[in-house]
Formats: sequence, C-alpha cells, structure tokens
Amino acid sequence: MNGEEMQKRWKETSEEILSGMAEWREQYSKATFREMEEEVDKRLSELRVRMLTDVAISRAEEEWAAGVCPTCGVKLEKKGKKKRKLQTRGGREVELEREYGVCPVCGQGIFPPG
Ligand SMILES: [Zn+2]
Repeated sequence: MNGEEMQKRWKETSEEILSGMAEWREQYSKATFREMEEEVDKRLSELRVRMLTDVAISRAEEEWAAGVCPTCGVKLEKKGKKKRKLQTRGGREVELEREYGVCPVCGQGIFPPG
C-alpha cells in the first residue's frame, strides 16, 4: 500500500464520517452535549483505527520488501500469513494480517510493528 492508496482510503472513510455525522445531527435534534461528544468520538475512532492499521501494514510491507533480518541481514524464512491483534489506546482492536517470517540465525520473527 503506497501513500496515495492510503490517502484515498482515508478520504473515503473521512467522507463517510462527515456525512454520517451530519445525518445523525438531523436525526437526533434533542441530543445532549455529552451524546454529541460521544457520537463524534465514536465516528472519529473509525478513522483512527483505519489510519493506524494502514500505517502499520504499510511499514510491515516495507520491512518485508527487504526480506532480511534487521539484526543479522540474513534472508528470512517465510512462515505464511498470520493474524495479529493489537489494542489501540482507545481500547479498540486492530487486526493485522500479513506474512510472518523468522530469521534462521537469531530466530527473530518479523511481524507488524506494535
Ligand atoms: Zn537475525
């Protein structure tokens, strides 16, 4: 995923958030300030998770492009795709799936950052 692709995805997510929030405003005309705040936070957290996931995957792809252990410089042995779940600070779960590899010298596994 390159920078352009990421920005395109983020713009799409942003537009959904913006139009969704505007619709919510029409529907909930009696919402309290607290409810408004919760709604904005909930919607923005979608963008936060999207961006975090994409940035992490993008970096992981870059590391894999090299295909070598960052410590030993030895070619990694591919071990297939693995899923990894990470918690964001807001308590949301982000799931990353990508190639997992192990260095045959030091045994270090290369995975998404986090
Ligand atoms: Zn190594």
